[in-house]
Amino acid sequence: MRLVAYQSERGPRVAGVRDGGYVDLNRADPRVPSSIKELLARGPAGLAGARAALEAGEAMAPGELELLPPVPGPEKVICVGVNYADHARESGMEPPAEPVIFSKFPSAVIADGDPIVLPRLSDAVDYEAELVVVIGLGGRHIPKEKAREHVAGYCSGNDVSARDWQLHKPAGQWLLGKTFDTFAPFGPALVTADEIDDPGNLGIRLRLNGRTMQDSNTDQLIFPVEELIAYVSGVSTLAPGDLIFTGTPPGVGMARNPPVLLKPGDTVEVEIDRVGVLRNPVVAEDA
Ligand code: MN
Repeated sequence: MRLVAYQSERGPRVAGVRDGGYVDLNRADPRVPSSIKELLARGPAGLAGARAALEAGEAMAPGELELLPPVPGPEKVICVGVNYADHARESGMEPPAEPVIFSKFPSAVIADGDPIVLPRLSDAVDYEAELVVVIGLGGRHIPKEKAREHVAGYCSGNDVSARDWQLHKPAGQWLLGKTFDTFAPFGPALVTADEIDDPGNLGIRLRLNGRTMQDSNTDQLIFPVEELIAYVSGVSTLAPGDLIFTGTPPGVGMARNPPVLLKPGDTVEVEIDRVGVLRNPVVAEDA
């Protein structure tokens, strides 16, 4: 099942994708919450109800809808650095002994099709294709063996990064360099976990203006999805709708010779097998 959120007069509502159209699940069956976080909090039983509503409901014409990110206001946007063995080699770094965790503010999320805005305060904005995990049932101290029970689904994501902030500010500014407005595109839909039997074996690619810049597989993840959930939930209670950007493979613009930076007019596409293509244009911030 593919879930999206769209803007209604009274705020965001969850819809399912059927035959290219969208079904408002709560309208199809009032027992299904209209909020994605409330739906995810109900776990597999909630998703089973959503699936039935998706089959029964009436589809709305896609053109009429303003689509939002699949989780419009995530409580947490958790990110993982240096998590692909092939990317660590490219950057000349030793694979880390434990996951390297940072975050973005929830205000950075945007939907498929929304523009990535190049900020006035940076002149070195880069792309990073990433598999995004969406948490369903929340929890603290989730053991690795049970971690997959807490995954609602997956999205394609782009960890947009201002390299000048991330690397060259005093002591580095990972948080600020990664969290300018619009720096967390993800989507196009939330693909529920039942459709992805192995998140550790998915082709992942990034195209810039049609040219392939990253091309790898999630089998290169140093810390797989289960270990990331166990590690982070040891520190902080995971909540329904929390996002984990799981790290990027080789081929980022900064590591190229000459370096490649995003510029106005570019189009960035992140494609993950069976998850979908996330496409965002690039624009300059108004002066
Ligand atoms: Mn990243």
